[in-house]
Amino acid sequence: MGFSDVASPSLLKVDTKADITRTEYWLSERERLSLLSWCRRSIAEPALSVLFPPRCAGCGDFEAHLCDKCRSSLVAADEESCPRCGEPGPRPLVSGRCSVCMDRDIEYDGVGSAFVHKGAARSLVSNFKLGGQPGLAEVMADLARPAFVRFLAAIGAKPPLLSTWVPSHPSSERQRGYNQAELFAKCLVRPLHSAACMQLVVKTGSTRHQRALHRQERLTNLKGSFSPGPDMSKAGLPARHPAECKYSGVVLVDDVSTTGATVAAVSAVLRSSTGLPVHVFTFSRAVSAASERHD
Ligand SMILES: [Zn+2]
Ligand SMILES: [Zn+2]
Repeated sequence: MGFSDVASPSLLKVDTKADITRTEYWLSERERLSLLSWCRRSIAEPALSVLFPPRCAGCGDFEAHLCDKCRSSLVAADEESCPRCGEPGPRPLVSGRCSVCMDRDIEYDGVGSAFVHKGAARSLVSNFKLGGQPGLAEVMADLARPAFVRFLAAIGAKPPLLSTWVPSHPSSERQRGYNQAELFAKCLVRPLHSAACMQLVVKTGSTRHQRALHRQERLTNLKGSFSPGPDMSKAGLPARHPAECKYSGVVLVDDVSTTGATVAAVSAVLRSSTGLPVHVFTFSRAVSAASERHD
Protein backbone atom coordinates (compact mmCIF):
# COMPACT_ATOMS: atom_id res chain seq x y z
CA MET A 1 0.00 0.00 0.00
CA GLY A 2 1.47 3.37 -1.02
CA PHE A 3 1.47 6.64 0.94
CA SER A 4 -1.30 8.03 -1.23
CA ASP A 5 -3.52 5.08 -0.28
CA VAL A 6 -2.98 5.66 3.47
CA ALA A 7 -3.75 9.35 3.11
CA SER A 8 -6.89 8.77 1.07
CA PRO A 9 -9.83 10.92 2.23
CA SER A 10 -11.93 7.89 3.22
CA LEU A 11 -9.26 6.53 5.58
CA LEU A 12 -8.64 9.95 7.11
CA LYS A 13 -12.35 10.28 7.72
CA VAL A 14 -12.50 6.94 9.54
CA ASP A 15 -9.45 7.84 11.68
CA THR A 16 -10.90 11.23 12.66
CA LYS A 17 -14.18 9.62 13.65
CA ALA A 18 -12.37 7.03 15.75
CA ASP A 19 -10.38 9.79 17.50
CA ILE A 20 -13.52 11.74 18.34
CA THR A 21 -15.17 8.60 19.75
CA ARG A 22 -12.08 7.83 21.84
CA THR A 23 -11.86 11.43 23.20
CA GLU A 24 -15.51 11.42 24.18
CA TYR A 25 -15.03 8.12 25.95
CA TRP A 26 -11.90 9.16 27.84
CA LEU A 27 -12.93 12.64 28.94
CA SER A 28 -16.35 13.81 29.98
CA GLU A 29 -17.36 17.40 29.21
CA ARG A 30 -16.64 18.38 32.81
CA GLU A 31 -13.16 16.84 32.67
CA ARG A 32 -12.42 18.59 29.38
CA LEU A 33 -13.47 21.94 30.88
CA SER A 34 -11.28 21.40 33.92
CA LEU A 35 -8.31 20.35 31.71
CA LEU A 36 -8.81 23.50 29.63
CA SER A 37 -9.03 25.59 32.78
CA TRP A 38 -5.80 24.01 34.13
CA CYS A 39 -3.99 24.70 30.80
CA ARG A 40 -5.19 28.29 30.84
CA ARG A 41 -4.19 28.84 34.49
CA SER A 42 -0.85 27.04 34.40
CA ILE A 43 0.43 27.68 30.88
CA ALA A 44 -1.43 30.34 28.90
CA GLU A 45 -1.91 32.97 31.63
CA PRO A 46 1.69 33.00 32.96
CA ALA A 47 2.94 33.26 29.35
CA LEU A 48 0.51 36.04 28.46
CA SER A 49 1.25 38.01 31.64
CA VAL A 50 4.86 38.42 30.45
CA LEU A 51 3.70 39.84 27.12
CA PHE A 52 0.75 41.77 28.51
CA PRO A 53 1.38 42.92 32.11
CA PRO A 54 -1.76 43.23 34.27
CA ARG A 55 -3.65 46.53 34.34
CA CYS A 56 -5.53 47.85 37.33
CA ALA A 57 -9.27 47.11 36.97
CA GLY A 58 -10.06 50.43 38.64
CA CYS A 59 -7.83 52.99 36.93
CA GLY A 60 -6.11 51.08 34.10
CA ASP A 61 -2.56 51.65 35.41
CA PHE A 62 0.05 49.07 34.41
CA GLU A 63 0.83 48.05 37.96
CA ALA A 64 -1.25 45.10 39.12
CA HIS A 65 -4.79 43.74 38.71
CA LEU A 66 -5.75 46.30 41.37
CA CYS A 67 -3.43 49.15 42.43
CA ASP A 68 -3.13 50.21 46.07
CA LYS A 69 -5.17 53.36 45.53
CA CYS A 70 -8.10 51.50 43.94
CA ARG A 71 -7.82 48.73 46.53
CA SER A 72 -8.26 51.27 49.33
CA SER A 73 -11.32 52.70 47.56
CA LEU A 74 -13.26 49.41 47.89
CA VAL A 75 -16.27 49.83 50.20
CA ALA A 76 -16.76 46.96 52.66
CA ALA A 77 -20.29 45.59 52.70
CA ASP A 78 -20.22 43.15 55.55
CA GLU A 79 -20.65 45.30 58.63
CA GLU A 80 -23.75 47.38 58.08
CA SER A 81 -25.73 45.28 55.61
CA CYS A 82 -29.16 43.88 56.42
CA PRO A 83 -28.47 40.45 57.97
CA ARG A 84 -31.59 39.00 56.36
CA CYS A 85 -31.34 40.08 52.71
CA GLY A 86 -27.82 41.53 52.55
CA GLU A 87 -28.88 44.97 51.37
CA PRO A 88 -25.94 47.34 51.98
CA GLY A 89 -26.66 49.65 54.92
CA PRO A 90 -26.76 51.18 57.39
CA ARG A 91 -30.55 50.85 57.61
CA PRO A 92 -33.12 50.53 60.40
CA LEU A 93 -34.45 47.01 61.03
CA VAL A 94 -37.96 46.11 62.19
CA SER A 95 -38.17 42.56 63.58
CA GLY A 96 -34.89 41.78 61.82
CA ARG A 97 -36.16 43.04 58.42
CA CYS A 98 -35.09 46.12 56.48
CA SER A 99 -37.33 48.16 54.19
CA VAL A 100 -36.18 46.15 51.14
CA CYS A 101 -36.95 42.66 52.52
CA MET A 102 -39.90 43.62 54.72
CA ASP A 103 -42.48 41.90 52.46
CA ARG A 104 -40.18 39.36 50.85
CA ASP A 105 -39.78 35.63 51.39
CA ILE A 106 -36.09 34.83 51.67
CA GLU A 107 -34.94 31.46 50.36
CA TYR A 108 -31.66 31.37 52.30
CA ASP A 109 -30.72 31.48 55.97
CA GLY A 110 -28.22 34.32 55.80
CA VAL A 111 -26.27 36.37 53.32
CA GLY A 112 -23.04 38.34 53.25
CA SER A 113 -20.81 40.12 50.74
CA ALA A 114 -17.30 41.46 50.84
CA PHE A 115 -17.87 44.75 49.00
CA VAL A 116 -20.53 47.13 47.78
CA HIS A 117 -20.88 46.70 44.00
CA LYS A 118 -19.52 50.05 42.81
CA GLY A 119 -16.26 51.60 41.62
CA ALA A 120 -13.31 49.21 41.53
CA ALA A 121 -15.40 46.27 42.85
CA ARG A 122 -17.79 46.66 39.93
CA SER A 123 -14.91 46.88 37.42
CA LEU A 124 -13.29 43.75 38.84
CA VAL A 125 -16.52 41.77 38.50
CA SER A 126 -17.07 43.07 34.99
CA ASN A 127 -13.51 42.27 33.82
CA PHE A 128 -13.72 38.85 35.46
CA LYS A 129 -17.12 37.95 34.05
CA LEU A 130 -17.24 39.67 30.69
CA GLY A 131 -13.63 40.66 29.97
CA GLY A 132 -12.19 37.15 29.61
CA GLN A 133 -9.92 37.47 32.66
CA PRO A 134 -10.35 34.25 34.69
CA GLY A 135 -7.08 35.01 36.51
CA LEU A 136 -8.96 37.66 38.51
CA ALA A 137 -10.52 34.82 40.54
CA GLU A 138 -7.39 34.61 42.74
CA VAL A 139 -7.17 38.40 43.12
CA MET A 140 -10.84 38.73 44.09
CA ALA A 141 -10.74 35.71 46.40
CA ASP A 142 -7.73 37.17 48.28
CA LEU A 143 -9.56 40.49 48.64
CA ALA A 144 -12.80 38.87 49.82
CA ARG A 145 -11.40 36.17 52.13
CA PRO A 146 -11.14 38.26 55.34
CA ALA A 147 -14.84 39.18 54.98
CA PHE A 148 -15.67 35.55 54.15
CA VAL A 149 -13.94 34.30 57.32
CA ARG A 150 -15.84 36.89 59.40
CA PHE A 151 -19.06 35.82 57.68
CA LEU A 152 -18.44 32.14 58.53
CA ALA A 153 -17.86 33.10 62.17
CA ALA A 154 -21.03 35.25 62.23
CA ILE A 155 -23.24 32.42 60.92
CA GLY A 156 -21.61 29.95 63.32
CA ALA A 157 -20.33 27.68 60.52
CA LYS A 158 -18.62 24.60 61.88
CA PRO A 159 -15.94 22.61 60.02
CA PRO A 160 -16.06 20.81 57.70
CA LEU A 161 -17.35 23.58 55.46
CA LEU A 162 -19.41 22.60 52.44
CA SER A 163 -19.58 25.20 49.70
CA THR A 164 -20.81 25.39 46.14
CA TRP A 165 -21.28 28.00 43.41
CA VAL A 166 -24.03 29.43 41.22
CA PRO A 167 -23.93 27.25 38.10
CA SER A 168 -24.08 28.58 34.57
CA HIS A 169 -25.66 26.84 31.59
CA PRO A 170 -23.17 24.52 29.78
CA SER A 171 -23.56 26.51 26.53
CA SER A 172 -22.64 29.85 28.16
CA GLU A 173 -19.79 28.14 30.02
CA ARG A 174 -18.47 26.78 26.71
CA GLN A 175 -18.74 30.23 25.17
CA ARG A 176 -16.94 31.99 28.04
CA GLY A 177 -14.55 29.10 28.69
CA TYR A 178 -15.23 29.14 32.42
CA ASN A 179 -17.83 29.79 35.06
CA GLN A 180 -16.62 32.80 37.05
CA ALA A 181 -18.63 31.84 40.16
CA GLU A 182 -16.99 28.40 40.23
CA LEU A 183 -13.46 29.82 39.88
CA PHE A 184 -14.11 32.43 42.57
CA ALA A 185 -15.68 29.89 44.98
CA LYS A 186 -12.81 27.42 44.59
CA CYS A 187 -10.12 30.08 45.09
CA LEU A 188 -12.01 31.50 48.07
CA VAL A 189 -12.21 28.26 50.07
CA ARG A 190 -8.95 26.61 48.90
CA PRO A 191 -6.74 27.94 51.75
CA LEU A 192 -9.34 27.24 54.44
CA HIS A 193 -8.94 24.27 56.70
CA SER A 194 -11.38 21.40 56.16
CA ALA A 195 -13.40 22.97 53.35
CA ALA A 196 -14.99 21.32 50.32
CA CYS A 197 -16.26 23.06 47.22
CA MET A 198 -18.54 20.84 45.14
CA GLN A 199 -21.00 21.13 42.28
CA LEU A 200 -24.26 20.66 44.15
CA VAL A 201 -26.50 22.39 41.58
CA VAL A 202 -26.58 22.48 37.78
CA LYS A 203 -28.36 24.86 35.44
CA THR A 204 -30.56 22.82 33.17
CA GLY A 205 -32.71 25.44 31.51
CA SER A 206 -31.31 28.26 29.42
CA THR A 207 -32.81 31.60 30.37
CA ARG A 208 -33.19 35.05 28.85
CA HIS A 209 -30.44 37.55 29.60
CA GLN A 210 -31.13 38.87 33.09
CA ARG A 211 -29.52 42.30 32.90
CA ALA A 212 -32.56 44.26 31.71
CA LEU A 213 -35.04 42.41 33.96
CA HIS A 214 -36.45 43.47 37.33
CA ARG A 215 -36.34 41.13 40.35
CA GLN A 216 -39.82 39.66 39.81
CA GLU A 217 -39.15 39.11 36.09
CA ARG A 218 -35.84 37.45 36.96
CA LEU A 219 -37.54 35.11 39.44
CA THR A 220 -40.04 34.06 36.76
CA ASN A 221 -37.26 33.74 34.18
CA LEU A 222 -35.25 31.42 36.45
CA LYS A 223 -38.14 29.23 37.59
CA GLY A 224 -37.27 25.54 37.14
CA SER A 225 -33.83 26.31 35.69
CA PHE A 226 -31.76 24.65 38.40
CA SER A 227 -31.52 21.02 39.57
CA PRO A 228 -29.43 19.04 42.06
CA GLY A 229 -25.87 18.57 40.73
CA PRO A 230 -23.46 15.64 40.24
CA ASP A 231 -21.62 15.99 43.56
CA MET A 232 -24.71 15.72 45.72
CA SER A 233 -24.21 12.00 46.43
CA LYS A 234 -20.42 12.46 46.79
CA ALA A 235 -21.19 14.88 49.64
CA GLY A 236 -23.46 12.21 51.18
CA LEU A 237 -26.58 14.27 50.55
CA PRO A 238 -29.37 14.20 51.26
CA ALA A 239 -28.57 12.42 54.54
CA ARG A 240 -31.21 9.93 55.68
CA HIS A 241 -31.04 11.48 59.15
CA PRO A 242 -29.60 14.90 60.17
CA ALA A 243 -27.23 13.13 62.61
CA GLU A 244 -25.67 11.21 59.70
CA CYS A 245 -24.67 14.38 57.87
CA LYS A 246 -21.15 15.64 58.52
CA TYR A 247 -22.02 19.12 57.25
CA SER A 248 -24.00 21.66 59.26
CA GLY A 249 -24.93 23.75 56.23
CA VAL A 250 -24.03 24.84 52.71
CA VAL A 251 -22.48 28.13 51.65
CA LEU A 252 -23.47 29.22 48.15
CA VAL A 253 -20.87 31.49 46.50
CA ASP A 254 -21.33 33.91 43.61
CA ASP A 255 -19.35 36.81 42.19
CA VAL A 256 -22.09 39.42 42.48
CA SER A 257 -25.66 39.73 43.69
CA THR A 258 -27.73 42.47 42.09
CA THR A 259 -31.42 41.72 42.73
CA GLY A 260 -30.72 38.48 44.63
CA ALA A 261 -33.03 36.53 42.27
CA THR A 262 -30.39 34.05 41.05
CA VAL A 263 -29.03 33.16 44.49
CA ALA A 264 -32.65 32.83 45.69
CA ALA A 265 -33.47 30.31 42.92
CA VAL A 266 -30.30 28.26 43.54
CA SER A 267 -30.79 28.40 47.33
CA ALA A 268 -34.33 27.03 46.97
CA VAL A 269 -32.95 23.95 45.14
CA LEU A 270 -30.12 23.55 47.67
CA ARG A 271 -32.49 23.78 50.61
CA SER A 272 -34.97 21.25 49.27
CA SER A 273 -32.36 18.78 47.97
CA THR A 274 -29.90 18.85 50.91
CA GLY A 275 -32.22 19.55 53.84
CA LEU A 276 -29.45 21.80 55.21
CA PRO A 277 -29.41 25.53 56.03
CA VAL A 278 -28.13 27.58 53.09
CA HIS A 279 -26.06 30.76 53.42
CA VAL A 280 -25.00 32.97 50.54
CA PHE A 281 -21.73 34.84 50.11
CA THR A 282 -20.85 37.08 47.16
CA PHE A 283 -17.83 39.18 46.25
CA SER A 284 -20.01 42.25 45.79
CA ARG A 285 -23.56 43.32 46.43
CA ALA A 286 -25.46 45.98 44.51
CA VAL A 287 -27.64 48.51 46.25
CA SER A 288 -31.09 47.66 44.93
CA ALA A 289 -33.37 50.12 43.18
CA ALA A 290 -35.99 49.42 45.90
CA SER A 291 -33.48 50.51 48.54
CA GLU A 292 -32.65 53.71 46.70
CA ARG A 293 -36.37 54.56 46.51
CA HIS A 294 -36.77 54.04 50.26
CA ASP A 295 -33.69 56.13 51.18
ZN1 LIG B 1 -5.96 51.61 40.13
ZN1 LIG C 1 -33.21 43.25 54.33
